[in-house]
Amino acid sequence: MTELVPYAVSEQNTRGRCVREDAPSGRSEFQRDRDRIIHSTAFRRLEYKTQVFVNHEGDLFRTRLTHSIEVAQIARSIARRLRLNEDLVEAISLAHDLGHTPFGHAGQDALNACMKDFGGFEHNLQSLRVVDVLEERYADFDGLNLCFETREGILKHCSPANAARLGEVGERFLKQQRPSLEAQIANFADEIAYNNHDVDDGLRSGLVTLEQLASVKLFADHLDIVRKAYPALGDRRLIHETIRRMINTLSTDLLLETEKNIQTRAVQNIAGVRAAPPLAAFSAEIHEQQRELKSFLLTHLYRHYRVMRMSTKAHRIISDLFRAFMDDSRLLPPQFQQRSGNGNVVGRMPSSNLQGQQTEADFARAVSDYIAGMTDRYAIREHRRIFAVEEIQI
Ligand code: MG
Repeated sequence: MTELVPYAVSEQNTRGRCVREDAPSGRSEFQRDRDRIIHSTAFRRLEYKTQVFVNHEGDLFRTRLTHSIEVAQIARSIARRLRLNEDLVEAISLAHDLGHTPFGHAGQDALNACMKDFGGFEHNLQSLRVVDVLEERYADFDGLNLCFETREGILKHCSPANAARLGEVGERFLKQQRPSLEAQIANFADEIAYNNHDVDDGLRSGLVTLEQLASVKLFADHLDIVRKAYPALGDRRLIHETIRRMINTLSTDLLLETEKNIQTRAVQNIAGVRAAPPLAAFSAEIHEQQRELKSFLLTHLYRHYRVMRMSTKAHRIISDLFRAFMDDSRLLPPQFQQRSGNGNVVGRMPSSNLQGQQTEADFARAVSDYIAGMTDRYAIREHRRIFAVEEIQI
């Protein structure tokens, strides 16, 4: 195995787990984290959660699961070349979307609106909550008891108010520090993955066209290269050959720019990574091209009228479910009625009042945990079970 650079996260410098455990045998601490994530229930749910297109719209569109695997692949390739901790970037990448609601961003916006009087809902805080609290698999602890650096990488952003209640993992937001380079790389890999696969899915769905994309420099430049080299290529191969070149350009640019920043700042160790400005970055030119592609996708894909129709429906499903459960707790499965004692948005610290009674915020948090955990089709079915008057099955 190649030796890690001194500023990588390693077995030696990890801040470890909240609950002490014996060192794993035959695998590293971060491989153990990755394995726990893969075996979690929340990870399996990703298969049936929307990225842009709802799961049943087509078998070939990305889901949160395939998205997370693509993020992990890109992040690992870059981390390996930078001699960073590949197992850690893999664990962070596979876990980064565990807290996503059904129906993608529309679902998150709807749930956040429902929760506005109870601390709000934010998917990356929820991902941390999943691995810290909600997974119930181990005898000795709630959650997955992951290493600090994995948890830190999952928490990409966080308000100062929430950070103050999160303990160690929230500290960097208060001290204006950066997370590990592994976390920074995983974050960029997320962006590289979704921008590229959303182009692919957008084209496949017919909601965006090659002609429209020809106005986007990053896409157009690579399309030209492929067309010149292979004038007779069919559309599917043409698209794939273009996208693979885009991924390569973005990954290589990220790698070189990050290496340059590390050298400029003469970073020696993890403390140096945390104190420096963000080290992982695209060059100015690629940053601009990437921004142009993002705004193209926003206008032409995420706000396409057919996607908007689905988003509106998703909004309604989530708000209806939330209101129904808040109005009558007896509609909730018993485990969520009982779980409500641990309602704080940030997990480990219960927000119940002094008498240990359940507050309305606790209860709302339990409802939000239940809804956030649903897959697209489960949410649709649950909505039907509660609201469809012609539905007689319970
Ligand atoms: Mg993501």
